Amino acid sequence: MSKPKIVILGAGYAGMMTTKRLTQKLSPEEAEIVLVNKHNYHYQTTWLHEVAAGTINHNQARTIISDVINPNRVRLIYDTVVKVDKDNQKVILENSDLSFDYLVIALGFVTNTFGIKGMDEHAMFIQDIDSSQMIREHIEYQFVKYKNSEEKNTDDLTILVGGAGFTGIEFVGELAEKVPQLCKKYDIDRRHVRVINVEAAPSILPMFDKDLVDYAIHSLEQRGVEFRLGTKINECTEEGFIVGEDNELIKAGTIVWTGGVTGSPVLAESGFEITRGKVTVDSDLRAPGEENIFVIGDCAWVMDEKAGRPFPPTAQAAMQHAETCANNIVSLINNYPLENFVFDDKGTVASLGVTDGIATILGGTKLSGKPAATMKKVVDNRALFLIGGLNMFLKKGKIRPF
Ligand code: FAD
Ligand code: NAD
Repeated sequence: MSKPKIVILGAGYAGMMTTKRLTQKLSPEEAEIVLVNKHNYHYQTTWLHEVAAGTINHNQARTIISDVINPNRVRLIYDTVVKVDKDNQKVILENSDLSFDYLVIALGFVTNTFGIKGMDEHAMFIQDIDSSQMIREHIEYQFVKYKNSEEKNTDDLTILVGGAGFTGIEFVGELAEKVPQLCKKYDIDRRHVRVINVEAAPSILPMFDKDLVDYAIHSLEQRGVEFRLGTKINECTEEGFIVGEDNELIKAGTIVWTGGVTGSPVLAESGFEITRGKVTVDSDLRAPGEENIFVIGDCAWVMDEKAGRPFPPTAQAAMQHAETCANNIVSLINNYPLENFVFDDKGTVASLGVTDGIATILGGTKLSGKPAATMKKVVDNRALFLIGGLNMFLKKGKIRPF
């Protein structure tokens, strides 16, 4: 009998970890492993807000896949997945087709605009390396344009951020660091630059206790971030957001939407049953009714049975899904029983720039300021180490002191 072919779609946290674990658990004689990704690089999605603000270079946030995955052991295909043909056990790529015996769908997230008028056309998204780099370049262009224009329009220097979840808050935290640097570089008065965060809910980051939220708001406001809380964005135009019951227009030269994410559109395209953009997987992480198809990372809703709702989509969870998924594929190949996924919550950390943050760890210990920022770096470095070993940690890790 020919050896089984395992195809992994997506080289994010979930896909890279699954691939790595499978190469450790299976010999080349036991299975063929194929990893498909849009680009020849893996990127740290958790650093995209830093790429977007320009506080790190985009090259720090990405790693060539063949530098960490041995191409002699894993067949690497750099192509875009169009859909999965479940009936014929095939993956349709932009440039070829691929058969599979076992499939792992780990294609991550896309930004969700919830159908808000004009958002797709006029706002920028922190979605991948290219879109984040575009934001950085756009912001810098606005500074150059302002500097060189006869009629100084300060609206050009306003940066509007829609949504105060993790992504929106971590992004404005980075902007609080970057804006003074840009003002210095282009000799522009800091008071002309506005960073405005608009949020529909009455507060920011609802998953943190009030004392940490208050700390975060105070810290960001002190560094020049303005909040418009309890303010719903109704529409986005090329001039800015239209918000609230009065349909007020907030003008800006840079408009970034960080109002939410959903699973890869490949899921719906492939005929999986979808709930709010994702597949609600069985407890062994397989798609319902599928013997050999796993859906993990941000493409999956994994139910938190205690809370009666899905776990939030995080890199932490995606990497843990990968461990269970790899174990279960090995079990399927060997006719062993499958294990259920159990989430080991290591806590939640939000950065507020390079040296500030808030965190709840170890089941309830709260941190703020530098200790929280340090914790964030520890978490980031751990992910690098788990995915790419010591080499990737030393090359890309955040090991510089504050
Ligand atoms: P991804 O990491 O998104 O990887 C998906 C991969 O699939 C990518 O390589 C992509 O190029 C590829 N791909 C996508 N579509 C296709 C296609 N059609 N064909 C081929 N390849 C494709 N979580 C935390 O736990 N801690 C944090 O501090 C944290 N910070 C974050 C900061 C930001 C700015 C953002 C946006 C998210 C953050 N998250 C954080 C959430 C975390 O990044 C995600 O939960 C995590 O990336 C999900 O991993 P994944 O492997 O499912 O998807
Ligand atoms: P999110 O869904 O967490 O936050 C989106 C925010 O936008 C919400 O506060 C929502 O009320 C607001 N919003 C939505 N529609 C709006 C409207 N019309 N007007 C004004 N505000 C509106 O999305 P996110 O921040 O992109 O995060 C996505 C996921 O990624 C999260 O579930 C999180 O777990 C994960 N993440 C984690 C980290 C971290 O752990 N440090 C960082 C970034 C992202």
